[in-house]
Order: sequence, then structure tokens, then C-alpha cells
Amino acid sequence: MKAFAITGVRETAFVDRTAPEPRAGEVLLEVNYIGYCGSDLNTYRGFNPLVKLPRIPGHEISAAIVETGAGVPDAWRVGQTVTVSPYTSCGLCSSCLKGRPNCCRFNETLGVQRDGALTKYIAVPWTKLYDAEGMAPEHVELIEPLTVGGHAADRSGAMEDDVTAVIGCGAVGLGAVLGLARKNARRVVAVDVDDDKLSLAREFGATDVVNSATADLHAALQEISGGHGPNCIIEAVGLPATFRAAVDEVAFAGSVTYIGYAKAPVEYQTKLFVQKELDIRGSRNANPENFRRVIDFARRGLFPIEKMLTRTYAFADAGQALADWDAAPGKVCRLAVKL
Ligand SMILES: [Zn+2]
Ligand SMILES: [Zn+2]
Repeated sequence: MKAFAITGVRETAFVDRTAPEPRAGEVLLEVNYIGYCGSDLNTYRGFNPLVKLPRIPGHEISAAIVETGAGVPDAWRVGQTVTVSPYTSCGLCSSCLKGRPNCCRFNETLGVQRDGALTKYIAVPWTKLYDAEGMAPEHVELIEPLTVGGHAADRSGAMEDDVTAVIGCGAVGLGAVLGLARKNARRVVAVDVDDDKLSLAREFGATDVVNSATADLHAALQEISGGHGPNCIIEAVGLPATFRAAVDEVAFAGSVTYIGYAKAPVEYQTKLFVQKELDIRGSRNANPENFRRVIDFARRGLFPIEKMLTRTYAFADAGQALADWDAAPGKVCRLAVKL
């Protein structure tokens, strides 16, 4: 079978792979759609230090079960629509021992530290599956980035009476907006530099939007929060300026949660950490309840998941999709490849 690989900086190729057979405890999946993640774009651009090339990308997965191996529970049936948790956890590191396997020290994400799913068949442990029956297969690959944002909403500690803000409304940021809105935060302020992304954020539950390219972010957040600043800010961009803005704008006794990966060192006025007595947290990957919640929200039609999909490409154009995204990153929410 053919698989799609990133072979060098802005170089891709179709490679041959033997179709896998499910071992005990595994299911064989027919991949239907793969969503491209920002980390795949970084790999393509040569900016992903975790990846050794060549690498088959793909960890945002829409698939159907075609075969179950020995010992797989009967709840998993041939034909069932599923998505896959693309992470691993060792069970022995300090994160795993603390019950936080999402940030396992030895995590290997599909398409990052190990080959991903941009091919027709993959075999995965049944314990990594999430039932997505009832969702359209062309939307199931959109679940994973939303779960990453949902986990950040958990990490933020946001409560019902809180004013919250999310900086960056890509797919992960939208997941954070959705997560905060479903926690009934009093206000969910979406911040981005693109008006289309902001109007989509409204449909995911943002109560307020701020275009920080055209409006004064500080003035807008002060006004919305009655002069306090937001109690919780989630940063989902990864630029030094937005890393700093989160600390500058957050309320005293607030929380700042970082999902974005800053690609350069960030300079801080650290006195604000102390003066404001901030909770500053990282947020990595997602937990099983994040998958279950996003799927539940999607099935109930609580947000328009289909609007995240900017464009779907044929498998033969998997390389073109990366080239297009590389050329015009601002306008893309999610690109998918149909296998
Ligand atoms: Zn992803
Ligand atoms: Zn571990």
C-alpha cells in the first residue's frame, strides 16, 4: 500500500508499506480522512525538533474498523466509525505516576516520534479508540485538535463566574473556546487577527471577540472584564508577543495556560508572576474525557464542527495540501486528506 511521507524540508514522496495485520489487542483500521496539524506543517518546514525524517505524518484520524484482533472487546465492531488517540504513555514516568499520562515523558505521538496514519490501513490498540458513530466520517478527524483545546480549558481551572480569554483561534484555540463555553464561563473572549476565525469562534461559544490587529487588546479586555483583566487566559499561538500578553493582561490571582509552542526564547517581567500570584501552566495533548466530551458535543450539534474544514484534498494531492498551507497559513483552519 502507498503511504505519504515527508522526506525533507518541503519535500514529500509516496512510499510503499506493507499493510499491517492486527495483533492481539489491536484493530485494523481503514483510514478515511486525515487532518493536518500545525505540527505537520512544522515538520514540512523543517522546524519540528521532535521529528526525524523521513516521517509519515498524520495523527488526526477518521477511520472505520475492518478487522479486530484476538482479545478485542465485542463493543468494537467491523464497520464502526472511530477516531484514535495518537499518544502513548509509559505508565512509569512521573507524569504517568501522577495520573497525567497525556504529558508522559516518553510519549510518542503518531506522525511525530513514530510514523503516522497517512496511508490506507493502520493497526492500533483498541484502548486508543473512541467511538464516533453518528458523526459524518469527513468530520471525525477534526476531533483531536479540539480535544487539545479542551484539555487546556481544564488546565485553566476556569469556573462559572470567570471572565476567560483565548488568544489564537486556530483549531486548538477553537477547542479551548468550546471547552470554556461548555464550562459556563461568564465571558469567553476570543482573540485573533483574522475576522473569519473570530466569527467562527462565536459559533463555538465565544461571547466576545477582539481583533488584536485592529483593536487595542488591553483596552478591550479591560472593558469586558470591568477593569480586572480576564481571570483565565489560554495562549494558543506560540509567539513571544502573545506569551507575554497573556501574563500582562490576566487578572491578579489569575491563571495563564500555554498550549502554543514558542519557537524563540521569551523575555518576561517576572515581577508580574509574583505580584499577581499567577498560576502559569503548560497544557499538552489531551485525556480520554476530552475525546468523549468533544464527540458528545459534536453529536448533539452544539457547535458547527464542519466549518473548521477549510478544504479536503485527494490522497494524491497530500503534498500539495502542505504546500498550499505553507504558502497561505493565515487563512487555514484545517486541511484534510481523503484516503
Ligand atoms: Zn494535532
Ligand atoms: Zn509516562
